[in-house]
Formats: sequence, C-alpha cells, structure tokens
Amino acid sequence: MNQPPPTPAHITVLERGWLSSNNILLHGATPSEGAVLVDTGYFCHREQTLALLSNALRPQETVRCIVNTHLHSDHCGGNRAISERYQCPILIPPGEFSAIERWDDSVLSYHATGQQCERFNPSGKLMPGQTLKQGRFEWQIHAAPGHDPHSVILFEPESGTLISADALWERGFGIIFPELDGTHAFLEVEATLDIIEGLRPKLVIPGHGAPFQDVQTALLSARERLRYFQRKPERHAFNAAKALTVFHMLETQKSSTEDLLAWLQRTPILASTWQRFFGTTPFVEWTLQLVQELVHSGALQQESTSISVRGR
Ligand SMILES: [Zn+2]
Repeated sequence: MNQPPPTPAHITVLERGWLSSNNILLHGATPSEGAVLVDTGYFCHREQTLALLSNALRPQETVRCIVNTHLHSDHCGGNRAISERYQCPILIPPGEFSAIERWDDSVLSYHATGQQCERFNPSGKLMPGQTLKQGRFEWQIHAAPGHDPHSVILFEPESGTLISADALWERGFGIIFPELDGTHAFLEVEATLDIIEGLRPKLVIPGHGAPFQDVQTALLSARERLRYFQRKPERHAFNAAKALTVFHMLETQKSSTEDLLAWLQRTPILASTWQRFFGTTPFVEWTLQLVQELVHSGALQQESTSISVRGR
C-alpha cells in the first residue's frame, strides 16, 4: 500500500476506520490558541478518541472548538465526551441545528439507522459561504449535499487542502441516504463533485480512509460509481443495506444469527429500504439474503448459529 501523502504542518489527521470517522486537528499559530477538531468518531470509541486526541495535541494545546461536517453517528458520536473533557463549544451545519437542540428522533438519523449517539448541545452554526479562521488560515465552508443533505466540506485555499467528509473518498463516497427514503439526491452528489472539482484541491482528507492527492482519479471513479447507481438505484439501495449491516456488526462484533436478523427487521431504515426497492420479496427472506450475501463476500463470518465480523 502507498504511504499517505504528508499533511501540512498545521493539520494532524487521526485516521480511523469505518465505525469512527477520521478526526482532524487544525492547529493554531501557537499552542495557546487551541486546536479545532473536525469530527469526533463513533460513540463506543469515545475513550479511544479521547486518548488519541490527548496524544496528538501539542504541549500546552487544548481543543478550543469541535466542528462537525455532518451529524451522522460516526462523525459526532464523541462530541459529548470531548466537549466535556475540553469544555469547548460545538459548531454544526445549520440544517439540523434545531433538530439536534430538541434531539428529535424523527428527524435525526440515529433511531432510523439503529446507531447510537450521545446527546450533545451545539453552540453555533457552520454557515456555508462563511469561513472558519484558525491560526493564519481561513477555511471556506461549502455546502455538500448528497450523502447527507446538510453536510458541509471545508477548504483551505493556501495549501489546497479539502476536508471532504463523506462527499468524496479515494474510492467512491458514502451512502446517498436521501435516496433510501425516495428523495432524489443523485444530482446533488454530482453537483457536490463539481464543487470539489472547481476547488482544485491538492490534498483531500476524507471522512474515512487515508488522505490522498490524486483527486482527478478519485473524482472519475466517484462519477463512474454515481452513473452506475443512477442506472441501478436498487444496487445503491442494496449496497447501503449491506453497509448499514456491516456497521452494526462492527459495533456488535459477534451476534447470534437470530439476533442479527431481529435487528435487521426492527431497524426502520432497512424496513423502508426493503419496502421501496425490494418489496416483491418477503421481508424476512430479504434480510436472510442480505446476511447470506455478506457471508458469501467474506465481510461477515458465519459459524453454526452465530455471525461475526471479519477483521478489516
Ligand atoms: Zn456520513
């Protein structure tokens, strides 16, 4: 595997896995200014995130503020623990600000996806079109709907660094969640890829995976993937259902087959995805197919009555 490219001295990337998003520290001009932390990982990794952070902060440096690119559980699950530890404010994109303030399960994704997130209090909004100043750098805030309608990405023009969240990975992008409830978002994904291309980033720090510099190849493969999903939205829906199942298994690690099937059957986003795209197959049979396909592809491992996640 290639070594990831070096990041500018004012940025530290804590590369995580799939259950927790990457955490990115934007250091100030001096340690006493404090660092800005972009995204905080998943709830059940919060102790590990706190330990990684305290290692990555420079002497005399603290976290002065948390910002979230979007409010999926793998990006903001450490918000509460980190804001309590460092007594720092949390800035979030404006679209779900009031839903987070009310902790409205009918709007937020946690209940629907069967994922956990500790309640936290946001202090301010990251408004697209504005900038976030840190040290001598101005990070532009851009709206990046598609994967999530309210997501933002952050771009620093002097070093050409883009924090792309789940809008662009080295290979692809995150699940296009609105499409699972029947809200068209493929065109928004494309428009966000156009915005990224227009920024001409020299380095992309994605929400998952290592930073990368070959942005043109990443954009080409994202556009190709998008065109495939536009032609076959049911493939996108099935991939999304598989990704949500693997996420659950990464959290659970091991489960009886019966418990996993029960989880699949009571998780609202899976029921609605089945109904919208696969309703001609009985629900229970569809959940069985989903698990079988994950076992077949090697993502999950089955032993008589239990299922576990393959090391990845
Ligand atoms: Zn996400």
